Amino acid sequence: MAGHITEGGHHPAVEEYLETIYHLEESAVPAMRARLVERLRVSAPAVSEQVKRLEREGYVTLEADRTLALTDEGRTYATDVVRRHRLAERLLVDVLGLPWHQVHEEAGRLEHAISPVLEARLVAILDDPATCPHGNPIPGSGRVPDARPLRSLTALDVGEQAVVVRIEEELQADHEKLVALEEAGVLPGTTVTVKTSSRDAIEVEAGKGSVSFTPAEAEALRVTDVA
Ligand SMILES: [Zn+2]
Repeated sequence: MAGHITEGGHHPAVEEYLETIYHLEESAVPAMRARLVERLRVSAPAVSEQVKRLEREGYVTLEADRTLALTDEGRTYATDVVRRHRLAERLLVDVLGLPWHQVHEEAGRLEHAISPVLEARLVAILDDPATCPHGNPIPGSGRVPDARPLRSLTALDVGEQAVVVRIEEELQADHEKLVALEEAGVLPGTTVTVKTSSRDAIEVEAGKGSVSFTPAEAEALRVTDVA
């Protein structure tokens, strides 16, 4: 794949890296190269190589504290990919009727193939949605963003209730977890109750069942207070 650029100028590897740095920022996780190794499931040397390329192309800078920062150009590119991913997920759920747990993976392929013309058409057909089906904001949407304060699931006490707002992209990489979330009804907009919480696991209950999370997974599930 190295060196190959598809017709529209899209380069899947570059796009995956920029998108992942955007996700890390969105989750307030410092964008260290080690995080890219984990999330992209590639070797450390491969990440170093690709990061050098992204620096050369002017998309990222390596800061003194060893974190990666998007340049203006890199941020524009990353934002385009994230928007297309989330619009594709909405298309797949709202129009094509795919199961909720399947659309993240499918959108991961489509996001690299959506042209600006197609993107504009998606925004129109989907009525400019504010979020993806996992509750994450679609950058550039004209809708008023949800301003409710968010907490991670890890911040809740046993017995406490909260409304699910966002299932962050990191958690969507775990297909089995998505299936479990859908089966239990742990979806954006639903109220969950913390059943048990320990150093190893947090279990929540929703309408149709319960799901257990590791603390790292629970970090990626953002909730808000019950109105
Ligand atoms: Zn997704």
